[in-house]
Amino acid sequence: MNRILVAGAGPVGLTAALALARRGFGVTVLEAGETLAAESRASTFHPPTLEMLDDLEVAGELLDRGLVSRTFAYRDRRAGLVARLDLSVLAGDTRFPYRLQCEQSKLTPILMNHLLRHQRCDVLFGWPVASAAQTPGRVAAIAADGRALEADWLIGADGAHSAVRRATGVSFEGMTYPERFLVASVDEELTEWMDGLSLVNYVYDPVEWCVLLRTPDHWRVLLPTPADTPDEAEVARLGGRLLGVHDPGRPWRVAHTSMYRVHQRVASAFRSGRVLLAGDAAHVNNPLGGLGMNSGIHDAVAYAAALARGSDDAITAAASQRRKVALEYVQSVSHQNYERLRTSDPLVRATHLAGLRATAADPVKARAALLRSSMIASVREAA
Ligand SMILES: Cc1cc2nc3c(=O)[nH]c(=O)nc-3n(C[C@H](O)[C@H](O)[C@H](O)COP(=O)(O)OP(=O)(O)OC[C@H]3O[C@@H](n4cnc5c(N)ncnc54)[C@H](O)[C@@H]3O)c2cc1C
Repeated sequence: MNRILVAGAGPVGLTAALALARRGFGVTVLEAGETLAAESRASTFHPPTLEMLDDLEVAGELLDRGLVSRTFAYRDRRAGLVARLDLSVLAGDTRFPYRLQCEQSKLTPILMNHLLRHQRCDVLFGWPVASAAQTPGRVAAIAADGRALEADWLIGADGAHSAVRRATGVSFEGMTYPERFLVASVDEELTEWMDGLSLVNYVYDPVEWCVLLRTPDHWRVLLPTPADTPDEAEVARLGGRLLGVHDPGRPWRVAHTSMYRVHQRVASAFRSGRVLLAGDAAHVNNPLGGLGMNSGIHDAVAYAAALARGSDDAITAAASQRRKVALEYVQSVSHQNYERLRTSDPLVRATHLAGLRATAADPVKARAALLRSSMIASVREAA
């Protein structure tokens, strides 16, 4: 059976590696870091992703570490709860009619443990891929210090700054948002302060929209932040901004903060010879809707199935199908979420919020909206 290299031991690279290992491939994962990343980024797993992880027999362990979120809510900064969508209406569409709230850093060790149970599979830490070289039928990953490994295929899952993508010469077109996103993880129980909270809440406001979401460890508050102010100044004024979300008569207890520059970009091709790009290496988007990691995991599973079929046409088709999903679904839904949250035109805003209430009140409309937001529609279309 073929040997495959995967650059990057993030959620996407490790999913690809495990899916390939279960199909009998020998897989070596090359990870630049000395350990798995512990950074707190993605925290929402959508139903189709849970199904795919279940097929890989890792969903149970992830469910044990996460929080099941059967609803998510739209709120208005001043008026409070606008509408709550209940994923139970998807019970006929998926084995997992809910979102799972769990940090991506809890998934990667599970995936790696399962991967290492397979023969001819390993993870090499401290192995930063710097470039790739191809000959007919083979591909090599090359580290900055000259180490090289050869295989039949290389999957570039080495994140947004992918060295594999750069080595292929594939461009990464798109735009960068004018704001950065500041994520504050707080040691507070927000349900004691605000009525009607779900575990995920999109809070509309023309000036200071935000997202409030629960992970097993913390509540997180995501706030838009100017592009060019010093990080320290933003952290210094965070306390006041949190009091604007809710004032308990004392400062919020902030556990930690992270600042992200956010882009919407898609690689000009997801396949270049014997190299496939997956996850953030292939597409990046804003985190509103929780689509980035989820769609990257869908890339990984689609590539493993295509590689197992062994037909060149199937591999090309999987790469182009996943690029179509990134362009037509992930980019457009995430950007629409951003535009809607910050709508300043009062009429547009009122119409949109009325539409959300009507959707939540009608199970047929709710199912149609949820099939899209929970990514079931995009996976069905790609299949
Ligand atoms: C605040 C925030 C919240 C988010 N929330 C969500 C969410 O709820 N749901 C969701 O679906 N997405 C979310 N995302 C997006 C999500 O975090 C990313 O889409 C996801 O991490 C992509 O996974 P990946 O494996 O492709 O890349 P990464 O997680 O970036 O992993 C890449 C790996 O490659 C390694 N690496 C880098 N360069 C090299 C190299 N040259 N050689 C070898 N290894 C290398 C890195 O060390 C890392 O381990 C969020 C993002 C942010 C910033």
